[in-house]
Amino acid sequence: MTARLLDGNALAAQIRAEIQPRAAAFTARHGRPPGLGIVLVGDNPASAIYVRNKLKAASEVGMRADLERLPVSASIEDVLAVVARLNRSAVHDGVLVQDPLPEAMGPGAARRVFDAIDPAKDVDGFHPVNVGKLVQKRPTLVPGTPLGVIEMLERSSIPIAGARAVVIGRSDIVGKPMAMLLLHRDATVTVCHSKTRELPAVAATADILVAAIGRPGFVTPDFVKPGATVVDVGITSVTDAALVARWFPAGHPRREVFERRGAITVGDVHPDVANVAGALSPVPGGVGPLTVAMLLSNVLRTAEAVLGP
Ligand code: NAP
Repeated sequence: MTARLLDGNALAAQIRAEIQPRAAAFTARHGRPPGLGIVLVGDNPASAIYVRNKLKAASEVGMRADLERLPVSASIEDVLAVVARLNRSAVHDGVLVQDPLPEAMGPGAARRVFDAIDPAKDVDGFHPVNVGKLVQKRPTLVPGTPLGVIEMLERSSIPIAGARAVVIGRSDIVGKPMAMLLLHRDATVTVCHSKTRELPAVAATADILVAAIGRPGFVTPDFVKPGATVVDVGITSVTDAALVARWFPAGHPRREVFERRGAITVGDVHPDVANVAGALSPVPGGVGPLTVAMLLSNVLRTAEAVLGP
């Protein structure tokens, strides 16, 4: 491996250490901590892990975080009622509904629920008002994952202005806001997706390559210009022993984790990219922890916006 490691755990710890005294000052001044309300519907195991991480991280920086759990059988009206209550709450500055909602709620459910969150409390930055403000480069709440990628690049002194950036993935949650944030920092941005022709060649023009696809190991060394910075947003739990054996030689720590647990979390970037890239974010321990840190930063921001620091 030759690429420099972009250590998301260390950077997230740095950000949390900056948030903590501000949360304490807010609590001292206003008699209550900054507060986050999380709505979790159903029993998706990955969602449960994400929510647990968010609750833990919030309490570690001295914030209040409350979980509202609804069963998989809940109706969209049940979810909207909880969101309305959190919107009115005087102790919750931020509100988020963990994505995805149960499939039985239907295809438009997530949009209806995200649209119901008060834009001033929308710490995930999914509300169309906040998306519109982002596009216009106005101060707003921005999704934690692309914000975290920007923090990762800036805190690692990777120049963005003037760089060629390629984002693979165009979701509302990651790809599109990522492209916007890079553009607003004066990168020349290309957004790729499943219909992009000659994707490896396009990706290989990038000084900064962000992969947000959800396909393990999709980005292979031929996608990467030597020395480029590669940020791996993808998170997939892999149970395929043959794939793990191909990727990691016997005795490799990741392979040992797989042998113990029967699954490992991998990203969209193939391990061999470490031999070509100049800098690379790992999975796990890259963008994931930064996503949570930036969520906390958004909660603090919503709290301070209403009551002052
Ligand atoms: P998504 O909504 O499924 O979007 C995936 C994107 O990848 C789509 O734009 C899709 O293109 C594109 N894509 C799929 N197959 C492709 C292919 N063969 N070639 C080129 N592009 C392709 O996923 P998402 O919510 O953005 O998440 C992406 C990944 O990031 C997932 O692994 C997710 O778990 C992870 N994630 C991580 C964090 C974190 O905290 N680290 C946060 C959020 C998401 P089309 O638009 O053409 O279909």
